[in-house]
Amino acid sequence: MLAIGSFLFALLLIVFKFNNNNFQEVPFWITAKILQASGSLLLCFRINNYDSLTMIANIFLLLGCAYEAWAIRILSGKSVTRRIHILTSIGIILVFMIMIFLADPYRLGLVFLIQSIFYYLPSLFLFSKSGMKFSLRLFLATCYFITGSTFLIASIICLCFPEYALMRRGNVIFYVIPIASFCIFLISGFILLMLAKERSDAQLLEIEKKLRKTEFRFQKIVETAIEGILIFDKDYKITFANEKMASVLGYAVDEMIGKSYVSFFPESQMDVYKYQESLRKKGADSVYECCLLRKDGRSHWFLVSAKAILDEYGRFEGSFAMLTDINERKEMELLLEESNRQLKELSNKDSLTGIANRRCFDATLEHEYSRFRRSNSKLSIILLDIDNFKEYNDCYGHVMGDDCLRQIGRVLTCCINRSVDLTARYGGEEFACILPDTDIHTAVKIAEDIRQKIQELKIEHKKSSVLEYVTASFGVTTVRYSPESSLEEIIAMADKLLYKAKVSGRNRIEYAEWKGNERDLPILYPHK
Ligand code: GH3
Ligand code: MG
Ligand code: MG
Repeated sequence: MLAIGSFLFALLLIVFKFNNNNFQEVPFWITAKILQASGSLLLCFRINNYDSLTMIANIFLLLGCAYEAWAIRILSGKSVTRRIHILTSIGIILVFMIMIFLADPYRLGLVFLIQSIFYYLPSLFLFSKSGMKFSLRLFLATCYFITGSTFLIASIICLCFPEYALMRRGNVIFYVIPIASFCIFLISGFILLMLAKERSDAQLLEIEKKLRKTEFRFQKIVETAIEGILIFDKDYKITFANEKMASVLGYAVDEMIGKSYVSFFPESQMDVYKYQESLRKKGADSVYECCLLRKDGRSHWFLVSAKAILDEYGRFEGSFAMLTDINERKEMELLLEESNRQLKELSNKDSLTGIANRRCFDATLEHEYSRFRRSNSKLSIILLDIDNFKEYNDCYGHVMGDDCLRQIGRVLTCCINRSVDLTARYGGEEFACILPDTDIHTAVKIAEDIRQKIQELKIEHKKSSVLEYVTASFGVTTVRYSPESSLEEIIAMADKLLYKAKVSGRNRIEYAEWKGNERDLPILYPHK
């Protein structure tokens, strides 16, 4: 019965071990039960008290008792060192080897003595833990004590009164031993299971307590972090926001929960949102800059470090974002960018006429020239100079002269429409245009348009040698790329043509298409 009972108990513990997640395994217990069951089973097949089967059975039983004592020690909240456990097991085996040389009933007496020790030990462990208040623990400790005492009395009888022990068939103590073993098996099995459950619950409680403590600690860290923290679900709705995040955006934490992340993005940042959302849904992490809308409608810049949250199958479950406030830095950057832009614009602008200045003209021409070298296309240049402007100044004064220059600047802006073209004040009363990808005929047409519009302004100029209005003379040249032509040569060419227009009577256009080596200029566009 003891064998079957122990086997069933071991089986029960194994089932618990593999099926019940809440049940915390007690080390040594399953082995104890298997050893006890095996020992009891072997005892059933013994022939007499001296055969080797009895010997092995007794070793199994005693090892089982030792293992059970260690299991109870662990249940009592103490630990068992590996060394003690191994030494005990070796000790038991050695004692049994010595016993081979002992005769009955001394041998039996020694077995009972060792067994009594292993019943006293659990009783000791349980007594020390029970605090002597009535409990199942105390009850079990008493049972172990009684059983240990029964075995001790039996061992004393065997060792001190061998003749009496040899007539044991008539002695009541030897009937008491199996009954006591069976009783302690039943009682201990039941109570130890309850104690094991109690221990599991206590351990779970302890784990929960630790978990709550850790959670509380992390919550405090997150709440007091100087970074903003946001957690989103799979629909990008906010499931968590810390104090810092909410306060920077001007919300209360509760107001932020459930809001969709996209609602914080201004229209100008929608591309950033869409791209980041697609990254996250692919499970990718990233760091990016973006500006979010505050509750008062103003935008605020953040550096966002975002991580995707995936479930155990790698499916997108949400995301986590750590937001650093970079608003001040970003506003400074934008301000700097804007003032740089304004500075650049100013450095390229002529203050009197508002069109590009000589510096901008030179830089654009150089850029266009290198581009034109690659593309092998045509580039046209118009140079124009106001006729008899010195006389205009002398007659009408510098203020009127300046106003005249401004009006001519406006005419140029009006006649040059393409974004790739450039009109500039070349210096004094000279203006210039760069017309990329423009052939000579188109360039001359544009120059003619400008010439007419200047004339149509009808700015009075009594001292002009041409008309009674302000007029201008033009030099137009178109070049195709040639390794022999340089920038300076192109300008010099246009200047030559302008000079030609001057000497030929002013208020006219002189033009020439130059292929790099033709130095003779035909006069092709005379005007009345
Ligand atoms: P031409 O027909 O041969 O070009 O004769 P011109 O008098 O126009 O040429 P010149 O080079 O002798 O004189 C240019 C004049 O332009 C001299 C200068 O007073 C005037 N001028 C240059 N820059 C400015 C300016 O910014 N404002 C004003 N009001 N006059 C300027
Ligand atoms: Mg001049
Ligand atoms: Mg002039």
